Amino acid sequence: MTGGGLVDRYGRVATDLRVSVTDRCNLRCVYCMPAEGLAWLPRNEVLTDAELVRVIRVGVELLGIREVRFTGGEPLIRPGLASVIAEVAALTPRPDIAVTTNGLTLARHAGALTAAGLNRVNVSLDTLRRDRFRELTRRDRLDDVLVGLRAAVAHGLTPVKVNAVLMRGVNDDEACDLLSFCLDQGYELRFIEQMPLDADRRWSRADMVTADEIFASLRTRFTLTPLPGRGASPAEHFLVGGGPARVGVIASVTRPFCGDCDRTRLTADGQIRSCLFSRTEDDLRTLLRSGAPDSELAQAWRGAMTAKPAGHGVDDPTFIQPPRPMSAIGG
Ligand code: SAM
Ligand code: SF4
Repeated sequence: MTGGGLVDRYGRVATDLRVSVTDRCNLRCVYCMPAEGLAWLPRNEVLTDAELVRVIRVGVELLGIREVRFTGGEPLIRPGLASVIAEVAALTPRPDIAVTTNGLTLARHAGALTAAGLNRVNVSLDTLRRDRFRELTRRDRLDDVLVGLRAAVAHGLTPVKVNAVLMRGVNDDEACDLLSFCLDQGYELRFIEQMPLDADRRWSRADMVTADEIFASLRTRFTLTPLPGRGASPAEHFLVGGGPARVGVIASVTRPFCGDCDRTRLTADGQIRSCLFSRTEDDLRTLLRSGAPDSELAQAWRGAMTAKPAGHGVDDPTFIQPPRPMSAIGG
């Protein structure tokens, strides 16, 4: 690596790249997108497969990126995803490659994605009840997600992780059922605190289900033993019933992990974000399309990350929600 990695002014080094490959989605989760969808990015503003691969290559070869996670919107609806993954898997050093998906079409794509070089998946699943799934995601597709999860295991994309967001009065009584289900199936469950990134801007601190409430709920049925040292991982992990099974909680709001953050983000339209909650972005697409050499892209990316704020301040009364919702940033 020449010229240095992605180091910010607090000394944090970003090695984990989150790439949003589309802002579109085939679900409409109530904490993320409105029922009618959003004004999608114009096609000509979305990076092509070749542009995506080039930016990721610059990250890996010149900036020390070691893990690449594809997300969205729903990443599996991007037709070229498997070929992008194959090209990323051919880079040196080969990064770890993961996808965060709602799982709807995972059964159909798991084989091709694994063959291309995908290492792991996180599948989002907030409820095991069909009526609730329909209410929460505004689509009747629970069975597709369950089939997708099984396909992920069958293709060796393990450990399969499940992400769940609990909402008060909607599915907050399902913490234990979700954990039982994941323990039975061999999936690793992680709860994520609901964050103020919904397009509808309805999030409220008072209404969100906190990590402490999640622990209290789980402890009614399970013994949890904290595992030390979360490092750069956003999740706090616990052994369930003495182990080896584990459960994680990502308390982005009530126990932020900004001091250890090692992430950098690329949006589908080629903007670098130093934080999920950034209110500013740095435009790599214009540079890319104006014929800039790799060294210039790398320098612009370093500059974007230098300015990474110390923390997101979500739990602070002065916090202002970023203009882009989660689906357009890449969660
Ligand atoms: N569509 C894919 C999926 O749902 O897994 C990938 C993109 S989605 C934005 C990534 C993750 O962000 C999902 O696990 C989803 O539950 C989570 N998410 C979306 N909006 C959120 C919010 N307001 N607070 C917390 N997590 C959120
Ligand atoms: Fe789509 Fe994922 Fe947002 Fe749900 S959370 S609407 S699946 S992008």
